[in-house]
Amino acid sequence: MDNKLTMEKLVSHCKATGFVYPGSDIYDGLANTWDYGPIGVELKNNIKRAWWKRFVQENENSYGVDAAILMNPGVWEASGHVASFSDPKMDCKTCKTRHRADNLIEAHAKGAVTPDTMTNEEMEAYIAEHHICCPRCGNFNWTPIRQFNLMFETSRGTIGDDQSKIYLRPETAQGEFVNFLNVQRTTRAKVPFGIAQIGKAFRNEITPGNFIFRTIEFEQMEHQQFCKADQSESYYNTYKQKAWQFLLDLGFNQSHLKFKDHDKLAHYAAAACDINYLFPIGWSELNGVHNRTNYDLSRHQEYSGKSMLYTDPITNEKFIPSVVEYSIGCDRLLLATLCEAYEEQQLENDTRIVMHFAPAIAPYKVAVLPLQKNLSEKAKDVYNNLRKHFMCTYDEAGSIGKRYRRQDQIGTPYCITIDFDSLDDDSVTIRDRDSMEQHRIKITDLKNYIAEKLEF
Ligand code: ATP
Repeated sequence: MDNKLTMEKLVSHCKATGFVYPGSDIYDGLANTWDYGPIGVELKNNIKRAWWKRFVQENENSYGVDAAILMNPGVWEASGHVASFSDPKMDCKTCKTRHRADNLIEAHAKGAVTPDTMTNEEMEAYIAEHHICCPRCGNFNWTPIRQFNLMFETSRGTIGDDQSKIYLRPETAQGEFVNFLNVQRTTRAKVPFGIAQIGKAFRNEITPGNFIFRTIEFEQMEHQQFCKADQSESYYNTYKQKAWQFLLDLGFNQSHLKFKDHDKLAHYAAAACDINYLFPIGWSELNGVHNRTNYDLSRHQEYSGKSMLYTDPITNEKFIPSVVEYSIGCDRLLLATLCEAYEEQQLENDTRIVMHFAPAIAPYKVAVLPLQKNLSEKAKDVYNNLRKHFMCTYDEAGSIGKRYRRQDQIGTPYCITIDFDSLDDDSVTIRDRDSMEQHRIKITDLKNYIAEKLEF
């Protein structure tokens, strides 16, 4: 069996098992939209829960919000998105496809130059000098580079004029910034404190693709640490480490991760670093940690006219807090989790696809499998009791070997078989997904045994 994981293999595995389907499938789809199926939505919810536990529940002085997707357009003026949230686009005049100039250079130069630090004129010159052709049709027939704003616009009410133009948020961060005062007042939190949010964001990406790596609608999980300016460097390092540790705890192999400092900093940023993951498409950004200084709250003070000054209750010092941001795409993390978990295993007399998810995020925790159909009453009893506590599934169709394979390929960490002895001794056999080892266990001990394995 060819063990190399490709994006094509993963897409077809996800579609066949119910992790992810193409969006609007029966209408031939809508490019770069995807729907999560029954297994995928469980995985996604579990990833969000694990993140929330780590960055809100267990995180010192951190609070959650769930802000509206549609915000006052003034927010996006203040944040700089209206003026400059754009990518350099070029159109191929021959095949009428649209491309990002920086991506064309990146693919051609393979690290030899960093387009992030180039102006549009420098990028045009580089593309001409190296005769970089359209990856779609192979012609060299480009329009000049133009900046393309990535925000989706919509309008409220019935009149589509400029007055009613609003945007689908391109990031969740502004929902945290505009609620800084509300959260601080209602929780009586003292700086340093954090605000976290998980929610949808929308970007009219020029070159989306690579499955759920880059989509036009996605979810972000973000934590903003508000602090004094002289604390920001230390928080920046702390959140780089916390972000790294979170991935290790999800089961990521260290050798598939690396820190990557930004080559070009936004004008307001003091430091920015991504964690890159070795996706089947190569090393690419998984999350970012940014030291944003007090730019965000200062801009909102300027544009909203509301004071963002915080008074330190001990020193009476007044200042606008700085922000250290940690941001990770939930869908992109889910993609990395799928890549990390996927294994095609050659067994002695068989092969299997197995998803090695950390039990805490596995879609189903337990599958209950009666060895024969006439054991189903007992098996259903066990299933109905366990499903009060964990996401469980039940399967009595086909040979036990086939049923194990079905669970392996969706990553169910524990399979429980009910046999005739179970009727007498109230015990079952529990099988571990990864080692495939089996042992007997009392039905009354199952709940605690499984609960312990799910700790995160
Ligand atoms: P990229 O360089 O890949 O475009 P970015 O630097 O613009 O990403 P941020 O604005 O820092 O990304 O967003 C934070 C996180 O949100 C990213 O690290 C990524 O995980 C996720 N993300 C950003 N854009 C997309 C997208 N179009 N589809 C899916 N996830 C995304």
